[in-house]
Amino acid sequence: MNVGVHHLTSNPTEAWRELSRFQRVIKVHVKAPKSDVLANKVRFVCMSDTHSLTPHIKFDIPPGDVFVHAGDFTRCGREEEVQEFNNWIGELPHKHKIVIAGNHELSFDRTFTHPLGHSPGGDRCTHTGLSVLDQIPTLGLPKESLEEAIQARHAKDALTNCTYLQDQGVMLYGLKIYGTPWQPEFCKWAFNVPRGEACLRKWEQIPGDTDVLVTHTPPVGYGDLCCSGVRAGCVELLATVQQRVRPRYHVFGHVHEGYGITTDGKIIYINASTCDLNYLPTNPPIVFDVALPAGVTKDHFP
Ligand code: MN
Ligand code: MN
Repeated sequence: MNVGVHHLTSNPTEAWRELSRFQRVIKVHVKAPKSDVLANKVRFVCMSDTHSLTPHIKFDIPPGDVFVHAGDFTRCGREEEVQEFNNWIGELPHKHKIVIAGNHELSFDRTFTHPLGHSPGGDRCTHTGLSVLDQIPTLGLPKESLEEAIQARHAKDALTNCTYLQDQGVMLYGLKIYGTPWQPEFCKWAFNVPRGEACLRKWEQIPGDTDVLVTHTPPVGYGDLCCSGVRAGCVELLATVQQRVRPRYHVFGHVHEGYGITTDGKIIYINASTCDLNYLPTNPPIVFDVALPAGVTKDHFP
C-alpha cells in the first residue's frame, strides 16, 4: 500500500481535526508488569529525552531484555555529554540497549559536523560550521556549547555501550526493531526535514515487517499534543505506521508533554519522554512485554 502526502501536511493540528473523525485514541493506563522478566516474553524498557539529566533521576529503572532510548539524550550533543550518557547506559543491566538520536544531538547530524558535504564546491571550509550556528536558535544554551557540539565530528564513536540505530534495523529475539531520528522541521536543529514529501521519504525506508518502531518524533494524534494546543506530530508518519508498517509498538519522545501510552485499537503508541515540559526528568520508564515469536527461545540469543 502506497502512502501519499496529506493535503494538510504542513498544518498537523488541522490535519488531525480531519483525520480524527476516523480515528480512535484510547488512553492506556497500564501499570508496568510486576512480575520478573518472563522466559517466553521479551521485556522492553523505554525512555527518551533524558537531556543529560540522568544524574538527577530519582526513580529505579526496571530490569528487562531490551532497553530503548528514543533520542534527545543530550542537551546539544557535545562529546562530553555523549560520553556521560554512554557511561550511564553502560551501567544498566539490560542485555540489549537500543539508542536513536533526536534533534538535540547536533554532533550526530552530518549537516552540522560536515557542512561542506552539503555545499559542493564551497570554499568556506573552516568557518562553514559557524555559519550553520548563526542560522539556528540557541534554545537557551550557551553558543560556545553549540560550537563545541558541531565541531565534535566523531561524537557518535563514544556510544560504545549500546546499539545506535540511524535508519537501521536490528533483529532481537526474532523481533525486528527499527530506529530513525528524523522529525518535521523544528528550530532547524539536528535531523530536521520539511513536512510532507521529505518526511515521507524517510518513513518509506521503514521495513514493512517491523515489530517495534522507534522514532524521535511522534506521529500526529498520538502523544503529540503540545501545551500550546498545537499538534507537533508527523501526518505521514501516522499514515505509514497505520497503513503500511503496522508495528506492534511505536516508541518515540520529542514532545515532552505527550508522555504516556495510547492506542488506536491495534498499534500501541508510547511517548517515553523522561523529561517533562520543564526539563525535569520525572517520568518513569515505560515497560512492556512482547511474546516471543513461535519457535524462538531466549537461549537462541544469549
Ligand atoms: Mn527533548
Ligand atoms: Mn526532540
